[in-house]
Amino acid sequence: MTKYIGAHVSASGGVENAPLNAHNIGATAFALFTKNQRQWLSAPLSEKSIALFKERCLEYGYSADAILPHDSYLINLGNPNKEALEKSRTSFNDEMLRCSQLGLKLLNFHPGSTLKEISIDECIALIAESINIALDKTEGVTAVIENTAGQGSNIGFEFEHLAAIIDKVEDKNRVGVCIDTCHAVAAGYDLISAEGYEKSFNDFERIVGFKYLRGMHLNDAKKGIGSRVDRHDSLGMGVIGKELFARIMRDERMNNIPLILETPNEDIWAEEIAWLKNEAEK
Ligand SMILES: [Zn+2]
Ligand SMILES: [Zn+2]
Repeated sequence: MTKYIGAHVSASGGVENAPLNAHNIGATAFALFTKNQRQWLSAPLSEKSIALFKERCLEYGYSADAILPHDSYLINLGNPNKEALEKSRTSFNDEMLRCSQLGLKLLNFHPGSTLKEISIDECIALIAESINIALDKTEGVTAVIENTAGQGSNIGFEFEHLAAIIDKVEDKNRVGVCIDTCHAVAAGYDLISAEGYEKSFNDFERIVGFKYLRGMHLNDAKKGIGSRVDRHDSLGMGVIGKELFARIMRDERMNNIPLILETPNEDIWAEEIAWLKNEAEK
C-alpha cells in the first residue's frame, strides 16, 4: 500500500508505547510527542526507551517515512521577544535532537506567532532563522512546517507564508510542509467541493510545491471555510464531510507520506483508519 495512514497516538509512559498504540488501531503511520507537549523541559530520552522504540517500530513495520513527530505547543519560533525566542529555539533544538536519537526523519511544528507585536514578514524572517539554527545543530531531521488556521496572531495560514519561510531556509533538502485539512479550510481554502479541491492543490503546487509535502493531518472541521477557528472534528462529522478524505486516498500526490488523524474521538480511530484504508484500495 502506498498510503501511510494513522493517528497522533499517546506516548504516555514513554515514547516506546507510541508504536504499540498505533499498531493496536491498525495504523500504518503515526504521530507522537517525544516529550510532554505542555512543558518546557523534559528528561532526556533514556537509552532503554530509544532502543525499545526502534525495536517496536521495526516489529510493527513503521519506517521513519511513516512517523511524524509533533513539537510542543509552547514553542514560538517567531517570537518577537528576544528571551522568549531563545527559550523556544533551545526547546526546538532539543526536539530535533530527540527525533534524531529515535532514528526519525521529520519534525512537524506550527510556524509561529507575531503576538501582534511584529509584522508577518518579520515573523517569517525569525522563523526561518530559527529553522536554520536548528538544521545547523542536527543531522538527518527535516523541519516540517504545518499550515495553521490563522487563529489569533498565528502565521502560516496562507500557502505564501510557508513558501516565504522555505525561501529563507538554507538547506532546502531538510525543510518541508504538512497540510492540516481542518486548518486549511478554517484559513479559507475550499477543500470541500471538487472544484475547490482542484484549485486549492493547484495553488499549493504553484506556490509551495508538492515536493515539499512531507505529511498531512486529516481532520474534519467544526467551523466553516474562512472561520479562522481551529476546531477539529471526526471525519464526516464536521463541515468538510467524508468526500475530501476519500479524494485524498485516491490522490497519488499524497502517497508515501504520513497521513495523520488528529480527530477528537480516539475511540473511533480504528474505524476511521479502516475506512480510509478501504478508500485507498478502491
Ligand atoms: Zn499541529
Ligand atoms: Zn494538525
